[in-house]
Amino acid sequence: MDPQNESAYCGIFCPDCIRYKNKYTEHASQLKAELEKIEFDKYAEIDTPFGANFKKYEEFSEVLNELIKSKCDNPCRVGGGCSGNPCKIMECCISKRFEGCWECSELDDCDKFDILTPRCGQTPKNNVKLIQQHGIRNWVPLKGKFYIW
Ligand code: SF4
Ligand code: SF4
Repeated sequence: MDPQNESAYCGIFCPDCIRYKNKYTEHASQLKAELEKIEFDKYAEIDTPFGANFKKYEEFSEVLNELIKSKCDNPCRVGGGCSGNPCKIMECCISKRFEGCWECSELDDCDKFDILTPRCGQTPKNNVKLIQQHGIRNWVPLKGKFYIW
């Protein structure tokens, strides 16, 4: 795919994202279907020392649903945002008719990147600066480590 299509408005390179074309969603869907078929929720809610941790089953189901929802088969620019949901950065760029934040003079002071900082640190903003310096077609080999871990 064209590096421009794979580069999100915020400087994320979508193929680096854990959600992108992931395999876990399919596994999670199959597990959910199997657990529902055998009514595991009824088994889990019984108060007994045999599997006391099943008391957390409801919480586990929420995580399972989230894993299923977080599938993202298309990069941001192609699929209309993360799993099809536009974020504030994308909306801001579109409203300003920017191809990405690299066209913006307010990047350094922009607080819309705060949503990305917990997992990605400063990488998205730094990537945007790389795009400013090297262009959308040449920046990919220079990109930063996507996650903080
Ligand atoms: S659009 Fe968002 S969720 Fe999808 S791959 Fe890109 S960064 Fe990840
Ligand atoms: S203000 Fe500029 S840097 Fe911030 S999201 Fe909008 S376009 Fe991007």
